[in-house]
Amino acid sequence: MDEEKKLPEENKGEETAKKTPEEKQTKKESAYEEYCQMCRRPASVAGKMIHMPNNLCVCNDCLQKTFDSINSNNFPYMEMLALDPAMFRLGGELPKMPKVKKKAKEAEKTQEQKEIPVPDLKNLKAPHKIKAELDEYVIGQDHAKKVVSVAVYNHYKRVADKEASVELEKSNMLMLGPTGSGKTYLVRTLAKLLNVPLAITDATSLTEAGYIGDDVESVLSKLLTAADNDVERAEHGIIFIDEIDKIAKKRNTNSRDVSGESVQQGLLKLLEGSEVEVPVGATNKNAMVPMTTINTKDILFICGGAFPDLEKIIKKRLNETAMIGFGAELRDKYDEDKKLLEKVTVEDLREYGMIPEFLGRLPVIFALQGLDKEQLIKVLREPKNAILKQYEYLLALDEVKLVFDDGALEEIAERALQKDTGARALRAILEEIMLDIMYEIPKDQNIGRVTITGDYVKGCGGPVIEMRG
Ligand code: ADP
Repeated sequence: MDEEKKLPEENKGEETAKKTPEEKQTKKESAYEEYCQMCRRPASVAGKMIHMPNNLCVCNDCLQKTFDSINSNNFPYMEMLALDPAMFRLGGELPKMPKVKKKAKEAEKTQEQKEIPVPDLKNLKAPHKIKAELDEYVIGQDHAKKVVSVAVYNHYKRVADKEASVELEKSNMLMLGPTGSGKTYLVRTLAKLLNVPLAITDATSLTEAGYIGDDVESVLSKLLTAADNDVERAEHGIIFIDEIDKIAKKRNTNSRDVSGESVQQGLLKLLEGSEVEVPVGATNKNAMVPMTTINTKDILFICGGAFPDLEKIIKKRLNETAMIGFGAELRDKYDEDKKLLEKVTVEDLREYGMIPEFLGRLPVIFALQGLDKEQLIKVLREPKNAILKQYEYLLALDEVKLVFDDGALEEIAERALQKDTGARALRAILEEIMLDIMYEIPKDQNIGRVTITGDYVKGCGGPVIEMRG
């Protein structure tokens, strides 16, 4: 009997002896609840844990997020795994990956980009050349184009001159201007001309770290993606933060201002220049992705916003000074002033809700003007990639000549002005006008020329159609 009772005891002893130190450790720890090592939630909240080598323990959600971020980017994770297993600390034997040959075109592109990774003092384009190139695309906004050309030139001079005896300040910019005046278009064109990566982000999507929304560092991930994950190229890129007026300090609020003042605070260190850990190939740090460090000291930040109601603040200030003393002027002198935004001062912006530290890091402040009728007609016709040129080209492929008469252009510009969204309205209006033309013309092979008239745009007549030959 005694022997029989002892037997299981002995077996137990043997089992314990066979256990690896790792297993023993797990057993010891099982007194505590398991938790996900990525999101830190315990198993009672996050559900069943998935065990991975090296005592790594993650929840289902985090594993899924990791797979999603791997699938949504073309980042060569698998190649990296083969190169540097230590990075992932997975332990064990890793499968040998076959070397993937890059497509010829891709390789060419990378080569082309690599040629100008860092700006060179000798090859920098002078401000007048930058402006001349901008002129080919952006209509009007002469003052803005001039300011941008000089600021960009100075910025890249500062970047290129490594042994500067005088410490040059960063020329980050703040651009004010109504919707559809070309803020984004100007920055896009600039980045294309300079051949630097560009990330465009919306300030409204940013929140203080830890709250729902993107934290401010996500803008760097976007830039890194735009630079094909090349850190050096990203460090000389441009970041455009649109709708910056939406992060003005909220007035009369008792709750924590997580999407206003806190975002301005969060952006301070990026604008100034600091080293930031950024996930490669994903915008959130939660996913199991490799990290890299980006230094923001040579990244050019351009902030843009429409700043509605800022004009009232400027007008109030100007009226107050104008009303005093012998030189008192009429109260409504500034009511019709179209260039009011250009008279903006840092004090006005502070009153609007931008914090002084933030404004201090954006030394170049300038305004764009709303486009008038003549300028809207030019936007339709003149830029290198003008909308009319695009339609003309499309129909030329069908061997049909498309012509817009002056009346048509005026009518389109007039309608765009009524919408009050600047040049943005033009595309939508043209799409509407051109739909029938683009549908009907290819039906008849004999059509040689179509003229869009003012009456057709108004909806009280047809286009003039001429046959071939
Ligand atoms: P916003 O000032 O709101 O950022 P955008 O730059 O997005 O305006 O302008 C919308 C579109 O209108 C652009 O893609 C561009 O085609 C056209 N556009 C706006 N302003 C101009 C301009 N000054 N010159 C040429 N095109 C312009």
